Amino acid sequence: MPRECQRSEYHVFQPLTSSPQGYGRQDLSSENQNYKGHGLSKGKEREQRASIRFKTTLMNTLMDVLRHRPGWVEVKDWLRENFDHTYMDEHVRISHFRNHYELTRKNYMVKNLKRFRKQLEREAGKLEAAKCDFFPKTFEMPCEYHLFVEEFRKNPGITWIMKPVARSQGKGIFLFRRLKDIMDWRKDTRSSDNQKDDIPVENYVAQRYIENPYLIGGRKFDLRVYVLVMSYIPLRAWLYRDGFARFSNTRFTLNSIDDQYVHLTNVAVQKTSPDYHPKKGCKWMLQHFRQYLASKHGPEAVETLFRDIDNIFVKSLQSVQKVIISDKHCFELYGYDILIDQDLKPWLLEVNASPSLTASSQEDYELKTCLLEDTLHVVDMEARLTGREKRVGGFDLMWNDGPVSREEGAPDLSGMGNFVTNTHLGCVNDRKKQLRQLFCSLQLQKKASS
Ligand code: ADP
Repeated sequence: MPRECQRSEYHVFQPLTSSPQGYGRQDLSSENQNYKGHGLSKGKEREQRASIRFKTTLMNTLMDVLRHRPGWVEVKDWLRENFDHTYMDEHVRISHFRNHYELTRKNYMVKNLKRFRKQLEREAGKLEAAKCDFFPKTFEMPCEYHLFVEEFRKNPGITWIMKPVARSQGKGIFLFRRLKDIMDWRKDTRSSDNQKDDIPVENYVAQRYIENPYLIGGRKFDLRVYVLVMSYIPLRAWLYRDGFARFSNTRFTLNSIDDQYVHLTNVAVQKTSPDYHPKKGCKWMLQHFRQYLASKHGPEAVETLFRDIDNIFVKSLQSVQKVIISDKHCFELYGYDILIDQDLKPWLLEVNASPSLTASSQEDYELKTCLLEDTLHVVDMEARLTGREKRVGGFDLMWNDGPVSREEGAPDLSGMGNFVTNTHLGCVNDRKKQLRQLFCSLQLQKKASS
């Protein structure tokens, strides 16, 4: 599958038979009764018709979930070329959009957001355009170097962060306050990477560093949140209730901008810190975080913050809606990185196309396996859903060609009524109960209509 990606993993799912009835007829009642994790008994497993083939290159929570999903079988010998998007059988699903990098590369994401903001300003006015002001001022380097220098000179003394556009896990990132540091970087990159002058320097973005992050226990953190996009045209996006805050191990200070343990909250970075406790880890579940904020600032401030975070998801997806090659075979589970500042304003740092699915603790393992199970429920290779669901496990339908209301009935778009969006980030995730009820009622409907 030709695609630009930070890591080289891909996942393909395909029913063994290409006839819709072939997999739609599958009896999933035994799965509902066994919905307790991954422990299907051998007998029950045999009862299931093996009808969906999968292949993945990852050996982590994803493999555990796929291997234990009733009716799914792993194939070893699939050719990558079969899934190059030129021809795909009707029921094949791939876990990426072909040009997902339009949102998941740091430079493209900003380019698309800037363009979208301009479009909104033209079409809907300044107030609407201001709803896109959730990403720090960013310049692509080296091509916007001169624009960057102009901006840099306007605000002497502030801190900037340099990030390679196509790397992840904090690799290659550094903070700076002097232009001289960029000169050194340009020279360094030229000489160390290739020793030849004709090969261009690696592309970076220079971004305004958020100097006033919200701190808990004196430590900086950012949030990892999961959004599942099933289609871009029309835009159909689901938000997962769980996620986590990733903390740095060292107290925040602006006095040591070279210390990555203070400034970069990536788990990959923090794990190498001398005071990292493998048992304690450096994560807080979102529910815990939301409760903490509510106790400090009251429920209204928290509602406003989480509404602003919802706005980030919707606007960022809309910014690439016309750019992403929409393909009914594709879906994507994005990992959003959000930083909150001391004024409780959320900032979008990055959107990941391949959020880490490796678990760093038992709690993390449970979150990721449940997230993946629910992703597969929404992708619905088994054809059990009606397509009208607003909630499936831990996922809430956030956008369906327009905002989705929590209550039944038509959405009130006047902005005056009591329209409440169907998002529950950091709220209780009683997914097992919900799935049991959902699949039971689907089965009853099926019986009634047959
Ligand atoms: P990567 O893809 O390497 O993870 P990110 O953009 O997510 O790159 O940045 C890594 C970490 O650096 C973030 O998790 C955050 O802690 C910190 N960071 C990145 N950009 C900013 C910024 N503009 N202001 C403050 N902190 C930032």
